[in-house]
Amino acid sequence: MNLVSTGQSTERIDFRTAVKRGLAPDGGLYLPESIPVLPRSFWAEMHDKSISDVARRVFDKLLKENFNPSQLDDITERAFTFDAPVVGLDDDTFILELFHGPTLAFKDFGARTMAAMLSVMAQEQGETITIVTATSGDTGAAVAHGFYKTPGVEVYVFYPGGQVSSLQEKQFATLGENITALKVDGTFDDCQRLVKACFIDEQIRSGKQLTTANSINIARLLPQMIYYIHAVARLTGADESYSSLVCSVPSGNFGNLTAGLLAYKLGLPVKRFVAATNSNHIVPDYLQDGIFRPQTSIRTISNAMDVGNPSNFDRMLALYDHDHRAMAQDVHGAWYDDEQTGEAIVSVWNKYGYLMDPHTAVGYLGCRDDLRKGERGLILSTAHPAKFPETIDRLIPGALQMPERLKEMAERTVKSISIPANMEAVRAVLLR
Ligand SMILES: *Cc1c(COP(=O)(O)O)cnc(C)c1O
Repeated sequence: MNLVSTGQSTERIDFRTAVKRGLAPDGGLYLPESIPVLPRSFWAEMHDKSISDVARRVFDKLLKENFNPSQLDDITERAFTFDAPVVGLDDDTFILELFHGPTLAFKDFGARTMAAMLSVMAQEQGETITIVTATSGDTGAAVAHGFYKTPGVEVYVFYPGGQVSSLQEKQFATLGENITALKVDGTFDDCQRLVKACFIDEQIRSGKQLTTANSINIARLLPQMIYYIHAVARLTGADESYSSLVCSVPSGNFGNLTAGLLAYKLGLPVKRFVAATNSNHIVPDYLQDGIFRPQTSIRTISNAMDVGNPSNFDRMLALYDHDHRAMAQDVHGAWYDDEQTGEAIVSVWNKYGYLMDPHTAVGYLGCRDDLRKGERGLILSTAHPAKFPETIDRLIPGALQMPERLKEMAERTVKSISIPANMEAVRAVLLR
């Protein structure tokens, strides 16, 4: 696979170079130069395959020039170690549970695949790779766990102090070893700005082989196509009503939705997508009127989606050649405030006995409001409700059961380094 930037440059680079760079030198994001359309038979064949079988088959189609077969086996086996089950709420509403990985959120898929790929590359090249990543909560956990004790890789996680839940903080700031957590005195947008600034900082660049594990990295994005393919193939199989499926994606930086759009280009048999957000509704607004207006992010109870300037939006634009009408046909927008989100959690619990986390609830609402007669909805559930105990306990006291993994996590001690939101402070830590 070769990639091109969404920016001005017309340079074509191979997949491994794109993974190491993260962001393109022209400030753009990498996208595959072309995407093969897989035949109808492929989708039917995937019907009863496990998620790791689907991953291996898709990687073979896309990455066989970049990794040899035993490396692809290795990457798949290390990354796809847990399932993504589909749960039916009723006859036409399905939840795709993406939270059965080590940090109980969908970002485990992308982070673990990227870690496995970088580990293969570091081994082959005998060098140390430095990951810098910003998190509003869940990215940090997934990346820290994905890369923990990976030889040849060191990780710096930037997070906004006081703006992630204490449980989220425990998941990425307690590990130590090759994982350093930086508690930034600022917002998530500041963290994202600092990470981007590392890539153009002469001093840091000359001392480190830098890359990022944010959803801007193509190695995070590609594996996120797999669970769409797995779930849709499982739900539809040879069923002729296949095209009635609508995927609702609770979104922040829009990596998950962009991965869905890439899968759609491969031929994923779905009808359209719903871009569901919280009160940070920049993309739903764009889908309405064709104008993109980045904002300062607003804090909500679905805090992993509190993004005021979604980083993957450039990819969405590029995939549609900047054609607003074409994008708005395939992607409908919807947004919900905290009150609506809370009401949805309670009403789905009362109606179906199913407990959703606040992010999933936003996706649920987007699906409920967008579905037309005869259509079926697939809601991407991006996190386990136990990751947000304050919110869930307030809404439905007693409903939440803590998984063992989180109980252990809550006991650990945070070991982060506090810094102000400027590059001098960042340099001091990275180049110490
Ligand atoms: C990161 C995250 C999202 C948003 O995903 P994007 O790919 O950034 O749109 C949604 N829900 C949860 C739980 C997350 O951690």
